[in-house]
Amino acid sequence: MKYSKLAELYEQLENTSKNLEKTSLISEFLKIVEEQDIKEIILLIQGRVFPKHSEKEIGIANNLVVKLLKNASGATEKEIKQTWNKTGDLGITAEQILKKKKQITLKTKELSVQDVITAISSCAEITGKNAISKKINVLSEILSFAKPIEAKYIVRTILNMLRVGVASGLMRDAISTSFDIEKELIQKKYDLTTDFGEIALTLKTKGKKSLEKIKMRIGTPVQVMLYNLAKNVEEGFKMTGKPAAIEFKYDGMRMQIHKEEDNVIIFTRRLDNVTKQFPDVVKAIKQTVKAKTCILDAEAVAYNPKTKEYLPFQYLSKRIKRKKDILEIIKQIPVVIYVFDVINYENENVMLKKFDERRAIIKKIITPKKMILDCAEQLITSSKEESEKFYSKALSLNEEGIMMKNIESTYIPGRRVGSGVKIKPVMETLDLAIIGGVWGEGKRSKWLSSFILSCKKGNEYLEIGKMGSGFSEEQFAKITNQLKKIITRETGRKVYVKPEIIVEVAYEEIQKSPTYSSGFALRFPRLVNIRDDLSTPNKLEKISRIYSSQKKVF
Ligand code: AMP
Repeated sequence: MKYSKLAELYEQLENTSKNLEKTSLISEFLKIVEEQDIKEIILLIQGRVFPKHSEKEIGIANNLVVKLLKNASGATEKEIKQTWNKTGDLGITAEQILKKKKQITLKTKELSVQDVITAISSCAEITGKNAISKKINVLSEILSFAKPIEAKYIVRTILNMLRVGVASGLMRDAISTSFDIEKELIQKKYDLTTDFGEIALTLKTKGKKSLEKIKMRIGTPVQVMLYNLAKNVEEGFKMTGKPAAIEFKYDGMRMQIHKEEDNVIIFTRRLDNVTKQFPDVVKAIKQTVKAKTCILDAEAVAYNPKTKEYLPFQYLSKRIKRKKDILEIIKQIPVVIYVFDVINYENENVMLKKFDERRAIIKKIITPKKMILDCAEQLITSSKEESEKFYSKALSLNEEGIMMKNIESTYIPGRRVGSGVKIKPVMETLDLAIIGGVWGEGKRSKWLSSFILSCKKGNEYLEIGKMGSGFSEEQFAKITNQLKKIITRETGRKVYVKPEIIVEVAYEEIQKSPTYSSGFALRFPRLVNIRDDLSTPNKLEKISRIYSSQKKVF
């Protein structure tokens, strides 16, 4: 297929915010895609070249795109940067720069989807000396052949910034309409394989009967089961029924661990492949898990190697980001794994077995090893008192809270289920002043889309983090309009404003941080409300108080 056809689809998708229209555009498009392109095209429509769970990375940042454009168009770096500053979007910059070039030269070739895929994906294979310049050569060539509109989307794809708004529900609906198959079946197969490409290819080549045969595979992540929140043990029992399995809710990182003989692969809750970052977990699994083949659901908790106390998530996130000196960081931040579920055992999907049966499988296949790997601590009870005692024990051991699970429930991937709930102490929200912001990119370029938050100490406003989540489009527009009137200075894409707007912010945790002048940072800050009724933010003392009262001892 010609890449220009796909670029046309991207344009149409970008020009509508209506999901039904997007679904129909994609479903019509899928009808004309040929077999050999369908897997790639499904990924490309979702803004990816590789599946999410792949370890491959394109490895091209914004500044390199400026170089690419320079090579492909002959424009100067200054010209490109000026256009970028004006548009806030390197895709549109590519389009505009190439439009100018096309008036001068005639170097064109019809690009096919495969040409673009081959060029971009080959970048992930290029490593070692001169890797960057080799990548630049490959991509510059493709861009030099691209029509302006194609360049816009090639650049956005390279940068992982396509943002045409095709979430997985929309892709499911499009495939369902295109092939006239019930949504539920597509969703069921997607939950097991997280691969719409495989589903669409199967439908195109072999039809519905074969779709039913698609199974979960070791090495390909499965959607994880999620849990609802209950206020307390009483409400928990109402949701789970009695008796329930009560477990510690460990505060770490969820790992979906796939094992096939000596091959171990680790995915995060969002299904990113983090195997390379956790060779210690790979080793622990090989040492302690007797099954030849299994998929385990587990929580990895970091601990202080000297005191053996659990460490907050921020330490683990350091490990996720670390690409070099991994053996060194394992010594500094070791982890212990708590296994709480199993979804595949000896190549059999065990999701439909009852929870107590799945737990029995875990018990059978694991040989616990202290501070390395164990089953999640569990109590089966119908008693409110016993459960509350277990909850206090969990908190006193610095766990995050407890989970309550119906012992007969099946594993339902990809959804919040009522048969399992989490109970944890609620964090207070904070009222913080916005003292700056950063202009957005792509579709958000007309708004300030990341806001610098601050608390107060005396007359000073101290930074405590940046927030870009929890906003509706109206809230972005409203805040941008309010902030534009109180800008005090601008540097590049950043603006500073008078501290007049107060926002109520929720977060997961307060962490110590050298990055911000307050000495603290918020983990996952998100907007609760714009507080037009307030004019001053919370004081630093309040932040310190909440920090110290967080149940963790670091
Ligand atoms: P939350 O992240 O607040 O939605 O809580 C759910 C998360 O708790 C899961 O995704 C797991 O990462 C984590 N977790 C910790 N311990 C357990 C457990 N015993 N059972 C299930 N999930 C657990």
